[in-house]
Amino acid sequence: MSAGAVSGLTELMQRYEAVIGLEVHGQLLTESKMFCGCSADYIGSPPNSNTCPVCLGMPGVLPVMNRKAIEYTVRTALALNCEIPEHSKFDRKNYFYPDLPKGYQISQYDMPMSEHGWLSFPVDGEEVRCGITRVHLEEDTGTLQHAGDILQQARSSVVDLNRAGVPLMEIVGEPDLRTPEQAREYLVRLRQILVYIGVNDGNLEQGSFRCDANISLRHRGSAELGVKVEIKNMNSFRAVQRALEYEIVRQGRLLDQGQAIAQETRGWVEAKGATISQRSKEYAHDYRYFPEPDLPPLQLTADFVERVRAGLPELPQQLVDRLQRDHGLSAYDAAVISAEIEDARAFEALVGAGVAAKSAANWLMGDVARLARETRLPLQRSGLGITGLAALIGLAERGRINGPTAKALLEELYVQGGDPVAVVEARGLGQVSDEAELSGIVDRVIADNPAAVSDFQGGKEQALQRLVGGVMKATRGRADARLVNQLLRERLGR
Ligand SMILES: [Zn+2]
Repeated sequence: MSAGAVSGLTELMQRYEAVIGLEVHGQLLTESKMFCGCSADYIGSPPNSNTCPVCLGMPGVLPVMNRKAIEYTVRTALALNCEIPEHSKFDRKNYFYPDLPKGYQISQYDMPMSEHGWLSFPVDGEEVRCGITRVHLEEDTGTLQHAGDILQQARSSVVDLNRAGVPLMEIVGEPDLRTPEQAREYLVRLRQILVYIGVNDGNLEQGSFRCDANISLRHRGSAELGVKVEIKNMNSFRAVQRALEYEIVRQGRLLDQGQAIAQETRGWVEAKGATISQRSKEYAHDYRYFPEPDLPPLQLTADFVERVRAGLPELPQQLVDRLQRDHGLSAYDAAVISAEIEDARAFEALVGAGVAAKSAANWLMGDVARLARETRLPLQRSGLGITGLAALIGLAERGRINGPTAKALLEELYVQGGDPVAVVEARGLGQVSDEAELSGIVDRVIADNPAAVSDFQGGKEQALQRLVGGVMKATRGRADARLVNQLLRERLGR
């Protein structure tokens, strides 16, 4: 169980089994919206500027399907092992909400574009296989901005329809997940696949990848399903896991007291670390679905599907296998490097620039990963870039600069940029590995530090580092540390 789990969770999970299913909505990376020519890249435009009569839901306008969005949905469905029926259609899902200008959302009801897929992944050494009920296509809604906290003090809200009509894919998972960890890992893997195949940017914070969870509890050993609760408003993997843990405890305690679980939608409130009741759950018949009369039925020929299949990019697991096979990386390194596609591309570019695979992996997983996190700049967009890092690693590997100098240069050039070779040349940072030159300095440091010398000769191993430090200081950090250690030990007879 994860650290920070709600108290009582482990005990309750011994008696109750959680049945969890996830619904993921992912915005597609198309140029235009689903049914009009407005840009699908709506972030940053002034409110309501990225709109037209179609996505504003004006009377008399007609939607036109976005071909790319259909292709991306099929690509996703194939990557998730789904079947693609030849015939599908769009339907109107009718409901009123201020962010939905037409009073209905164009979605897919009983004939989705794909069904019967699956996703499998390891959790704690065990393979989990989660069914994918369907992947279908719909349109996103606008967004509301509340003046204040919607639950407590909001007095007014404004609507922005820039997002209305952006192609939105819904990926419905089967209730095959049994623990919050499995749910989290399912999302991590699903997001990774969508980013790899280029259909979604995987941004949970901005909501281009978002998740709702259904969870019910049943006594262990029982085959009957309990009453399910839907959880919304989780915008990080951690939030999903915490919200599910919270619900297991909340529902478990109610069941322990013999109380009924209400079928409802609850919202995760990050600041409280709790879910709160939002509304009673709607049923499909509340939406009065009917076939969208303004769009023709969708026919996807076997030919089209096979073309999309043939164009599927490499999937994460295929890349992990290839990194091990072609570059000799360990399974662990290959998994870390391929977790984010940008890292995987950086790795391959470094190897392409002549850096040894193991060395490229170590740099990327170590200091580069830390700097990317701290500066929020992936290597590709950093000042150093792939070419700069390859040059820097080259200098270090050939012994032109020592480890500490390489690290200091990485820190400095990562943001501000610069050619490492030129910087090393201009500042005279080249490693001192000339034995004759170092010998003189070593002798001087030994003569100047009798206390450290006697400590070391008396058996205190750490005292040697004080002497190494003295040599480093004298060479402005440029000495070849391995050679300095060797020379000191020779002189001091240990
Ligand atoms: Zn529009």
